[in-house]
Amino acid sequence: MSTATLTPRPQTEVSTPPRPKQPRHFDFNRITDEQFLEAAEHMHLDEEVRQLLLTPYRELIVQVPVRMDDGKLSMFHGFRVQHNGVRGPYKGGLRFHHQVDLGEVRSLAALMTWKTALVDIPFGGAKGGITCDPSKMSRAELQALTRGFTQKIDMALGVYRDIPAPDMNTNAQVMAWIMDEYGKKHGYTPAIVTGKPISLGGSLGREEATGRGTMIITREACKAFGVTLRGAAVAIQGFGNVGSWAARLLAREGARIVAVSDVHGGICSPEGLDIDAVTLHVKESGSVVDMPGTRAIDNDEILMLPVDVLIPAALGGVIHEDNAGDVRAKLVVEAGNSPVTPEADRVLRQRKARIVPDILVNAGGVTVSYFEWVQNLQQFRWSLEEVNTRLEERMMAAWRHVYEVHQTQKLPLRVAAYVVALERVSEATRQRY
Ligand code: NAD
Repeated sequence: MSTATLTPRPQTEVSTPPRPKQPRHFDFNRITDEQFLEAAEHMHLDEEVRQLLLTPYRELIVQVPVRMDDGKLSMFHGFRVQHNGVRGPYKGGLRFHHQVDLGEVRSLAALMTWKTALVDIPFGGAKGGITCDPSKMSRAELQALTRGFTQKIDMALGVYRDIPAPDMNTNAQVMAWIMDEYGKKHGYTPAIVTGKPISLGGSLGREEATGRGTMIITREACKAFGVTLRGAAVAIQGFGNVGSWAARLLAREGARIVAVSDVHGGICSPEGLDIDAVTLHVKESGSVVDMPGTRAIDNDEILMLPVDVLIPAALGGVIHEDNAGDVRAKLVVEAGNSPVTPEADRVLRQRKARIVPDILVNAGGVTVSYFEWVQNLQQFRWSLEEVNTRLEERMMAAWRHVYEVHQTQKLPLRVAAYVVALERVSEATRQRY
Protein backbone atom coordinates (compact mmCIF):
# COMPACT_ATOMS: atom_id res chain seq x y z
CA MET A 1 0.00 0.00 0.00
CA SER A 2 1.92 3.08 -1.04
CA THR A 3 1.05 6.71 -1.18
CA ALA A 4 3.91 7.61 -3.53
CA THR A 5 2.43 5.74 -6.47
CA LEU A 6 -0.87 7.58 -6.18
CA THR A 7 0.42 11.13 -6.22
CA PRO A 8 -0.53 12.90 -9.45
CA ARG A 9 2.26 13.05 -11.95
CA PRO A 10 2.46 14.64 -15.38
CA GLN A 11 1.48 12.24 -18.13
CA THR A 12 4.01 12.26 -20.92
CA GLU A 13 3.00 9.08 -22.69
CA VAL A 14 0.13 6.64 -22.36
CA SER A 15 0.94 3.15 -23.47
CA THR A 16 -1.58 0.35 -23.88
CA PRO A 17 -1.53 -1.59 -20.60
CA PRO A 18 -0.24 -5.15 -20.91
CA ARG A 19 -2.85 -7.87 -21.26
CA PRO A 20 -3.19 -10.39 -18.45
CA LYS A 21 -1.39 -13.76 -18.60
CA GLN A 22 2.17 -12.58 -18.69
CA PRO A 23 4.89 -15.23 -18.78
CA ARG A 24 6.21 -15.70 -15.22
CA HIS A 25 9.17 -17.67 -13.93
CA PHE A 26 6.92 -19.26 -11.35
CA ASP A 27 3.28 -20.16 -10.95
CA PHE A 28 1.47 -18.66 -7.97
CA ASN A 29 -1.28 -21.26 -7.96
CA ARG A 30 1.21 -24.07 -7.78
CA ILE A 31 2.77 -22.47 -4.69
CA THR A 32 -0.46 -22.22 -2.71
CA ASP A 33 -1.84 -25.55 -3.97
CA GLU A 34 1.35 -27.38 -2.95
CA GLN A 35 1.30 -25.75 0.47
CA PHE A 36 -2.35 -26.68 0.93
CA LEU A 37 -1.82 -30.27 -0.22
CA GLU A 38 1.14 -30.87 2.09
CA ALA A 39 -1.04 -30.01 5.09
CA ALA A 40 -4.08 -31.84 3.65
CA GLU A 41 -1.97 -35.01 3.28
CA HIS A 42 -0.71 -34.73 6.83
CA MET A 43 -4.29 -34.34 8.14
CA HIS A 44 -5.69 -37.09 5.88
CA LEU A 45 -8.25 -34.57 4.68
CA ASP A 46 -11.01 -36.36 2.80
CA GLU A 47 -11.22 -35.99 -0.98
CA GLU A 48 -14.56 -34.15 -1.07
CA VAL A 49 -13.42 -31.37 1.27
CA ARG A 50 -10.06 -31.24 -0.53
CA GLN A 51 -11.76 -30.59 -3.87
CA LEU A 52 -14.08 -27.97 -2.37
CA LEU A 53 -11.14 -26.12 -0.85
CA LEU A 54 -8.91 -26.35 -3.92
CA THR A 55 -11.54 -24.74 -6.13
CA PRO A 56 -12.55 -21.06 -5.88
CA TYR A 57 -16.24 -20.32 -5.32
CA ARG A 58 -16.48 -17.50 -7.87
CA GLU A 59 -14.13 -15.76 -10.32
CA LEU A 60 -14.93 -12.50 -12.07
CA ILE A 61 -12.88 -11.17 -14.98
CA VAL A 62 -13.99 -7.73 -16.09
CA GLN A 63 -13.05 -5.27 -18.76
CA VAL A 64 -12.54 -1.71 -17.49
CA PRO A 65 -12.27 0.92 -20.23
CA VAL A 66 -10.76 4.23 -19.07
CA ARG A 67 -10.61 7.50 -21.01
CA MET A 68 -7.00 8.52 -20.35
CA ASP A 69 -5.78 12.11 -19.87
CA ASP A 70 -4.64 12.31 -23.51
CA GLY A 71 -8.16 11.52 -24.72
CA LYS A 72 -7.44 7.93 -25.81
CA LEU A 73 -9.42 4.96 -24.50
CA SER A 74 -7.38 2.30 -22.68
CA MET A 75 -8.70 -1.15 -21.82
CA PHE A 76 -7.76 -2.71 -18.49
CA HIS A 77 -8.50 -6.16 -17.12
CA GLY A 78 -9.71 -6.58 -13.55
CA PHE A 79 -10.18 -9.69 -11.45
CA ARG A 80 -12.05 -10.55 -8.26
CA VAL A 81 -11.76 -14.10 -6.98
CA GLN A 82 -13.86 -15.31 -4.04
CA HIS A 83 -12.13 -18.44 -2.85
CA ASN A 84 -14.13 -19.69 0.13
CA GLY A 85 -16.88 -18.19 2.29
CA VAL A 86 -17.90 -20.97 4.65
CA ARG A 87 -16.71 -19.03 7.72
CA GLY A 88 -18.03 -15.59 6.72
CA PRO A 89 -18.08 -12.87 4.04
CA TYR A 90 -15.26 -12.91 1.47
CA LYS A 91 -12.38 -10.63 2.46
CA GLY A 92 -9.25 -9.62 0.64
CA GLY A 93 -7.18 -6.85 -0.86
CA LEU A 94 -7.08 -5.21 -4.26
CA ARG A 95 -3.73 -5.09 -6.06
CA PHE A 96 -2.68 -2.77 -8.91
CA HIS A 97 0.33 -4.20 -10.75
CA HIS A 98 1.42 -4.68 -14.36
CA GLN A 99 1.93 -8.43 -13.79
CA VAL A 100 -1.40 -9.15 -12.08
CA ASP A 101 -3.23 -12.07 -13.71
CA LEU A 102 -6.02 -14.47 -12.80
CA GLY A 103 -3.63 -17.12 -11.46
CA GLU A 104 -1.99 -14.70 -9.05
CA VAL A 105 -5.32 -13.35 -7.80
CA ARG A 106 -6.72 -16.88 -7.40
CA SER A 107 -3.72 -17.92 -5.36
CA LEU A 108 -3.83 -14.80 -3.15
CA ALA A 109 -7.58 -15.37 -2.58
CA ALA A 110 -6.87 -18.87 -1.25
CA LEU A 111 -4.19 -17.47 1.07
CA MET A 112 -6.83 -15.13 2.51
CA THR A 113 -9.09 -18.10 3.37
CA TRP A 114 -6.28 -19.70 5.40
CA LYS A 115 -5.21 -16.38 6.94
CA THR A 116 -8.67 -15.39 8.22
CA ALA A 117 -9.13 -18.90 9.64
CA LEU A 118 -5.69 -18.88 11.29
CA VAL A 119 -6.40 -15.68 13.24
CA ASP A 120 -9.95 -16.93 13.78
CA ILE A 121 -11.91 -14.01 12.39
CA PRO A 122 -15.33 -14.64 10.78
CA PHE A 123 -14.35 -14.04 7.15
CA GLY A 124 -13.64 -16.11 4.08
CA GLY A 125 -10.98 -15.42 1.47
CA ALA A 126 -10.97 -13.23 -1.65
CA LYS A 127 -8.58 -11.09 -3.69
CA GLY A 128 -8.79 -8.54 -6.48
CA GLY A 129 -6.38 -7.17 -9.00
CA ILE A 130 -6.16 -4.88 -11.99
CA THR A 131 -3.44 -5.32 -14.59
CA CYS A 132 -2.05 -1.80 -14.80
CA ASP A 133 1.10 0.19 -14.07
CA PRO A 134 -0.01 2.80 -11.53
CA SER A 135 3.38 4.54 -11.66
CA LYS A 136 2.54 5.61 -15.23
CA MET A 137 -1.02 6.77 -14.45
CA SER A 138 -2.31 10.10 -13.17
CA ARG A 139 -4.53 10.41 -10.12
CA ALA A 140 -7.58 11.07 -12.34
CA GLU A 141 -6.88 7.93 -14.39
CA LEU A 142 -6.46 5.81 -11.25
CA GLN A 143 -9.71 7.16 -9.87
CA ALA A 144 -11.57 6.39 -13.11
CA LEU A 145 -10.07 2.89 -13.17
CA THR A 146 -11.06 2.21 -9.54
CA ARG A 147 -14.61 3.50 -10.02
CA GLY A 148 -15.04 1.56 -13.27
CA PHE A 149 -13.83 -1.65 -11.62
CA THR A 150 -16.17 -1.10 -8.64
CA GLN A 151 -19.17 -0.76 -10.99
CA LYS A 152 -18.21 -3.94 -12.83
CA ILE A 153 -17.92 -6.11 -9.70
CA ASP A 154 -20.72 -4.39 -7.77
CA MET A 155 -23.00 -7.45 -7.89
CA ALA A 156 -20.40 -9.56 -6.06
CA LEU A 157 -19.68 -7.00 -3.30
CA GLY A 158 -21.61 -6.45 -0.06
CA VAL A 159 -21.06 -5.83 3.63
CA TYR A 160 -22.00 -9.46 4.30
CA ARG A 161 -20.78 -10.73 0.91
CA ASP A 162 -17.34 -9.38 -0.07
CA ILE A 163 -15.29 -6.55 1.47
CA PRO A 164 -12.17 -5.30 -0.39
CA ALA A 165 -9.08 -3.76 1.27
CA PRO A 166 -5.74 -2.27 0.13
CA ASP A 167 -2.83 -4.36 -1.15
CA MET A 168 0.19 -3.58 -3.33
CA ASN A 169 -0.08 -0.13 -4.96
CA THR A 170 -3.51 0.60 -3.52
CA ASN A 171 -4.16 2.65 -0.39
CA ALA A 172 -6.76 4.45 1.73
CA GLN A 173 -7.54 6.81 -1.15
CA VAL A 174 -8.41 3.91 -3.47
CA MET A 175 -10.66 2.47 -0.75
CA ALA A 176 -12.39 5.87 -0.42
CA TRP A 177 -13.14 5.85 -4.17
CA ILE A 178 -14.58 2.31 -3.93
CA MET A 179 -16.75 3.27 -0.94
CA ASP A 180 -17.97 6.40 -2.71
CA GLU A 181 -18.77 4.57 -5.96
CA TYR A 182 -20.55 1.73 -4.14
CA GLY A 183 -22.47 4.30 -2.08
CA LYS A 184 -23.92 5.97 -5.21
CA LYS A 185 -26.03 2.87 -5.78
CA HIS A 186 -26.44 1.45 -2.28
CA GLY A 187 -26.30 4.50 0.00
CA TYR A 188 -23.81 5.22 2.78
CA THR A 189 -21.99 1.92 3.39
CA PRO A 190 -18.61 2.43 5.10
CA ALA A 191 -18.29 -1.29 5.95
CA ILE A 192 -18.03 -2.14 2.22
CA VAL A 193 -14.24 -1.60 2.34
CA THR A 194 -11.57 -1.57 5.02
CA GLY A 195 -8.31 0.37 5.07
CA LYS A 196 -10.29 3.58 4.46
CA PRO A 197 -9.12 7.05 5.52
CA ILE A 198 -9.87 7.67 9.22
CA SER A 199 -12.12 10.60 8.19
CA LEU A 200 -14.40 8.17 6.30
CA GLY A 201 -14.66 5.54 9.03
CA GLY A 202 -11.25 3.89 8.81
CA SER A 203 -9.84 2.32 11.96
CA LEU A 204 -7.04 3.77 14.00
CA GLY A 205 -4.10 1.40 13.73
CA ARG A 206 -5.09 -0.14 10.36
CA GLU A 207 -2.30 1.50 8.35
CA GLU A 208 0.45 -0.02 10.50
CA ALA A 209 -1.41 -3.25 11.37
CA THR A 210 0.39 -5.59 8.96
CA GLY A 211 3.79 -4.21 9.99
CA ARG A 212 2.80 -4.44 13.67
CA GLY A 213 1.68 -8.05 13.23
CA THR A 214 5.00 -8.75 11.47
CA MET A 215 6.88 -7.25 14.42
CA ILE A 216 4.91 -9.33 16.95
CA ILE A 217 5.51 -12.61 15.09
CA THR A 218 9.19 -11.79 14.45
CA ARG A 219 9.64 -11.04 18.16
CA GLU A 220 8.03 -14.35 19.17
CA ALA A 221 9.91 -16.38 16.54
CA CYS A 222 13.20 -14.87 17.71
CA LYS A 223 12.38 -15.87 21.31
CA ALA A 224 11.39 -19.40 20.26
CA PHE A 225 14.44 -20.03 18.05
CA GLY A 226 17.19 -18.50 20.17
CA VAL A 227 17.75 -15.15 18.43
CA THR A 228 18.07 -12.11 20.68
CA LEU A 229 15.99 -9.43 18.99
CA ARG A 230 17.84 -6.59 20.70
CA GLY A 231 20.78 -6.00 18.37
CA ALA A 232 19.69 -8.68 15.86
CA ALA A 233 20.55 -7.88 12.23
CA VAL A 234 17.41 -7.57 10.08
CA ALA A 235 17.16 -7.07 6.29
CA ILE A 236 13.84 -6.07 4.70
CA GLN A 237 13.04 -6.28 0.98
CA GLY A 238 10.20 -3.86 0.20
CA PHE A 239 9.86 -0.52 2.00
CA GLY A 240 6.17 0.14 1.33
CA ASN A 241 3.38 -0.01 3.87
CA VAL A 242 4.30 -3.39 5.36
CA GLY A 243 8.10 -3.20 5.11
CA SER A 244 8.46 0.36 6.43
CA TRP A 245 6.16 -0.22 9.41
CA ALA A 246 7.85 -3.52 10.24
CA ALA A 247 11.23 -1.74 10.09
CA ARG A 248 10.07 1.10 12.36
CA LEU A 249 8.46 -1.17 14.95
CA LEU A 250 11.30 -3.70 14.99
CA ALA A 251 13.83 -0.87 15.42
CA ARG A 252 11.78 0.26 18.44
CA GLU A 253 12.23 -3.26 19.86
CA GLY A 254 16.00 -2.81 19.56
CA ALA A 255 16.61 -4.68 16.29
CA ARG A 256 19.31 -3.40 13.92
CA ILE A 257 17.75 -2.83 10.49
CA VAL A 258 20.91 -3.29 8.39
CA ALA A 259 19.32 -3.16 4.92
CA VAL A 260 16.08 -2.15 3.20
CA SER A 261 15.09 -1.97 -0.47
CA ASP A 262 12.31 -0.97 -2.83
CA VAL A 263 11.61 -1.46 -6.53
CA HIS A 264 14.46 0.96 -7.41
CA GLY A 265 17.19 -0.73 -5.32
CA GLY A 266 18.45 -1.06 -1.77
CA ILE A 267 20.65 0.47 0.91
CA CYS A 268 22.76 -1.12 3.60
CA SER A 269 24.48 -0.03 6.82
CA PRO A 270 26.01 -2.65 9.15
CA GLU A 271 25.54 -0.41 12.22
CA GLY A 272 21.83 -0.16 11.53
CA LEU A 273 19.80 2.35 9.50
CA ASP A 274 17.99 5.28 11.06
CA ILE A 275 14.48 4.29 9.91
CA ASP A 276 12.93 7.72 10.56
CA ALA A 277 15.64 9.29 8.39
CA VAL A 278 15.07 6.66 5.66
CA THR A 279 11.32 7.36 5.78
CA LEU A 280 11.95 11.08 5.36
CA HIS A 281 14.33 10.39 2.47
CA VAL A 282 11.62 8.25 0.77
CA LYS A 283 9.08 11.02 1.28
CA GLU A 284 11.38 13.54 -0.37
CA SER A 285 12.91 11.43 -3.16
CA GLY A 286 10.39 8.61 -3.76
CA SER A 287 12.89 5.84 -2.97
CA VAL A 288 15.33 4.50 -0.38
CA VAL A 289 18.21 4.66 -2.89
CA ASP A 290 20.93 7.32 -2.51
CA MET A 291 20.30 7.67 1.20
CA PRO A 292 23.39 9.51 2.50
CA GLY A 293 25.77 7.44 4.66
CA THR A 294 24.65 4.07 3.28
CA ARG A 295 26.06 1.55 0.78
CA ALA A 296 23.97 0.69 -2.29
CA ILE A 297 22.88 -2.93 -2.75
CA ASP A 298 20.50 -4.52 -5.23
CA ASN A 299 17.37 -6.55 -4.68
CA ASP A 300 19.17 -9.90 -5.15
CA GLU A 301 22.02 -9.05 -2.78
CA ILE A 302 19.68 -8.04 0.04
CA LEU A 303 18.32 -11.62 0.14
CA MET A 304 21.85 -13.04 0.58
CA LEU A 305 23.02 -10.90 3.50
CA PRO A 306 24.32 -12.80 6.56
CA VAL A 307 21.55 -11.52 8.86
CA ASP A 308 19.58 -12.99 11.75
CA VAL A 309 16.22 -12.13 10.19
CA LEU A 310 15.32 -11.66 6.53
CA ILE A 311 11.89 -10.14 5.84
CA PRO A 312 10.69 -10.27 2.22
CA ALA A 313 7.89 -7.67 2.17
CA ALA A 314 7.34 -7.04 -1.55
CA LEU A 315 6.55 -9.44 -4.37
CA GLY A 316 5.93 -13.19 -4.43
CA GLY A 317 8.44 -15.82 -5.58
CA VAL A 318 11.57 -13.80 -4.80
CA ILE A 319 13.28 -16.72 -3.04
CA HIS A 320 13.33 -19.59 -5.51
CA GLU A 321 15.34 -22.72 -6.31
CA ASP A 322 18.14 -20.74 -7.99
CA ASN A 323 18.90 -18.42 -5.07
CA ALA A 324 17.63 -20.27 -1.97
CA GLY A 325 21.04 -21.91 -1.44
CA ASP A 326 22.58 -18.44 -1.02
CA VAL A 327 20.13 -17.22 1.63
CA ARG A 328 22.10 -16.99 4.88
CA ALA A 329 19.46 -15.66 7.30
CA LYS A 330 18.58 -17.76 10.36
CA LEU A 331 14.92 -16.74 10.16
CA VAL A 332 12.95 -15.89 7.02
CA VAL A 333 9.83 -13.99 8.06
CA GLU A 334 7.35 -13.81 5.16
CA ALA A 335 5.72 -10.39 5.48
CA GLY A 336 4.80 -10.35 1.77
CA ASN A 337 2.60 -13.02 0.22
CA SER A 338 4.26 -16.17 -1.18
CA PRO A 339 7.85 -14.86 -1.28
CA VAL A 340 9.31 -18.39 -0.97
CA THR A 341 8.55 -21.02 -3.64
CA PRO A 342 8.05 -24.66 -2.56
CA GLU A 343 11.46 -25.62 -4.05
CA ALA A 344 13.18 -22.86 -2.08
CA ASP A 345 11.22 -23.92 1.00
CA ARG A 346 12.75 -27.42 0.74
CA VAL A 347 16.27 -26.01 0.32
CA LEU A 348 15.87 -23.73 3.34
CA ARG A 349 14.39 -26.54 5.47
CA GLN A 350 17.42 -28.71 4.68
CA ARG A 351 19.68 -25.88 5.78
CA LYS A 352 17.66 -25.67 9.03
CA ALA A 353 16.68 -22.05 8.34
CA ARG A 354 13.29 -21.31 9.90
CA ILE A 355 10.58 -19.96 7.61
CA VAL A 356 7.77 -18.14 9.38
CA PRO A 357 4.85 -18.32 6.93
CA ASP A 358 2.95 -15.46 5.31
CA ILE A 359 -0.49 -16.58 6.46
CA LEU A 360 0.67 -16.02 10.04
CA VAL A 361 3.15 -13.14 9.68
CA ASN A 362 1.03 -10.72 7.64
CA ALA A 363 -2.37 -11.57 9.16
CA GLY A 364 -2.30 -8.39 11.27
CA GLY A 365 -3.70 -6.40 8.34
CA VAL A 366 -6.84 -8.45 7.89
CA THR A 367 -7.26 -8.67 11.67
CA VAL A 368 -7.49 -4.89 12.02
CA SER A 369 -9.62 -4.82 8.86
CA TYR A 370 -12.01 -7.04 10.78
CA PHE A 371 -11.92 -4.55 13.69
CA GLU A 372 -12.65 -1.74 11.21
CA TRP A 373 -15.64 -3.63 9.79
CA VAL A 374 -16.98 -4.29 13.31
CA GLN A 375 -16.59 -0.59 14.24
CA ASN A 376 -18.39 0.45 11.03
CA LEU A 377 -21.28 -1.93 11.69
CA GLN A 378 -21.54 -0.68 15.29
CA GLN A 379 -21.02 3.00 14.29
CA PHE A 380 -18.58 3.17 17.19
CA ARG A 381 -14.87 4.03 17.13
CA TRP A 382 -12.28 2.19 19.22
CA SER A 383 -9.16 3.88 20.61
CA LEU A 384 -5.74 3.10 19.10
CA GLU A 385 -4.81 1.39 22.34
CA GLU A 386 -7.84 -0.90 22.14
CA VAL A 387 -7.07 -1.81 18.51
CA ASN A 388 -3.41 -2.56 19.27
CA THR A 389 -4.24 -4.58 22.40
CA ARG A 390 -6.78 -6.71 20.54
CA LEU A 391 -4.36 -7.17 17.61
CA GLU A 392 -1.63 -8.32 19.99
CA GLU A 393 -4.05 -10.84 21.57
CA ARG A 394 -5.13 -12.28 18.20
CA MET A 395 -1.59 -12.52 16.82
CA MET A 396 -0.29 -14.11 20.02
CA ALA A 397 -3.12 -16.65 20.09
CA ALA A 398 -2.38 -17.61 16.47
CA TRP A 399 1.38 -17.80 17.14
CA ARG A 400 0.92 -20.00 20.23
CA HIS A 401 -1.42 -22.35 18.35
CA VAL A 402 0.95 -22.69 15.36
CA TYR A 403 4.01 -23.13 17.58
CA GLU A 404 2.27 -25.82 19.62
CA VAL A 405 1.35 -27.81 16.46
CA HIS A 406 4.90 -27.27 15.15
CA GLN A 407 6.35 -28.74 18.34
CA THR A 408 3.89 -31.51 19.13
CA GLN A 409 3.47 -32.78 15.55
CA LYS A 410 7.08 -32.08 14.48
CA LEU A 411 5.92 -30.03 11.48
CA PRO A 412 7.55 -27.04 9.77
CA LEU A 413 5.88 -23.80 10.84
CA ARG A 414 4.17 -23.38 7.45
CA VAL A 415 2.56 -26.82 7.54
CA ALA A 416 1.59 -26.25 11.17
CA ALA A 417 -0.09 -22.95 10.25
CA TYR A 418 -2.01 -24.61 7.41
CA VAL A 419 -3.09 -27.44 9.73
CA VAL A 420 -4.58 -24.94 12.22
CA ALA A 421 -6.36 -23.02 9.44
CA LEU A 422 -7.52 -26.10 7.55
CA GLU A 423 -9.01 -27.66 10.67
CA ARG A 424 -11.26 -24.60 11.10
CA VAL A 425 -12.25 -24.30 7.44
CA SER A 426 -12.81 -28.02 6.88
CA GLU A 427 -14.92 -28.30 10.04
CA ALA A 428 -17.16 -25.40 8.89
CA THR A 429 -17.33 -26.96 5.40
CA ARG A 430 -18.47 -30.35 6.70
CA GLN A 431 -21.18 -28.71 8.79
CA ARG A 432 -22.58 -26.94 5.75
CA TYR A 433 -22.64 -29.91 3.34
P1 NAD B 1 3.25 -1.37 -1.10
O1 NAD B 1 2.79 -1.13 -2.48
O2 NAD B 1 2.94 -0.36 -0.05
O3 NAD B 1 4.82 -1.58 -1.04
C1 NAD B 1 5.48 -2.50 -1.84
C2 NAD B 1 6.97 -2.26 -1.72
O4 NAD B 1 7.64 -3.25 -2.47
C3 NAD B 1 7.42 -0.91 -2.26
O5 NAD B 1 8.48 -0.42 -1.47
C4 NAD B 1 7.93 -1.27 -3.65
O6 NAD B 1 8.86 -0.34 -4.16
C5 NAD B 1 8.55 -2.61 -3.37
N1 NAD B 1 8.72 -3.42 -4.56
C6 NAD B 1 7.87 -3.58 -5.60
N2 NAD B 1 8.42 -4.39 -6.53
C7 NAD B 1 9.63 -4.75 -6.05
C8 NAD B 1 10.67 -5.57 -6.55
N3 NAD B 1 10.58 -6.14 -7.74
N4 NAD B 1 11.77 -5.70 -5.78
C9 NAD B 1 11.87 -5.10 -4.58
N5 NAD B 1 10.93 -4.33 -4.06
C10 NAD B 1 9.82 -4.15 -4.79
O7 NAD B 1 2.66 -2.82 -0.71
P2 NAD B 1 2.39 -3.41 0.74
O8 NAD B 1 0.99 -3.13 1.10
O9 NAD B 1 3.50 -3.02 1.64
O10 NAD B 1 2.46 -4.97 0.42
C11 NAD B 1 3.71 -5.66 0.42
C12 NAD B 1 3.44 -7.16 0.48
O11 NAD B 1 2.69 -7.45 1.67
C13 NAD B 1 2.60 -7.72 -0.67
O12 NAD B 1 3.04 -9.03 -0.93
C14 NAD B 1 1.20 -7.74 -0.09
O13 NAD B 1 0.37 -8.70 -0.73
C15 NAD B 1 1.50 -8.14 1.34
N6 NAD B 1 0.45 -7.79 2.30
C16 NAD B 1 0.07 -6.51 2.49
C17 NAD B 1 -0.90 -6.20 3.44
C18 NAD B 1 -1.33 -4.79 3.74
O14 NAD B 1 -2.08 -4.59 4.70
N7 NAD B 1 -0.86 -3.79 3.01
C19 NAD B 1 -1.51 -7.23 4.16
C20 NAD B 1 -1.10 -8.55 3.95
C21 NAD B 1 -0.11 -8.81 3.01
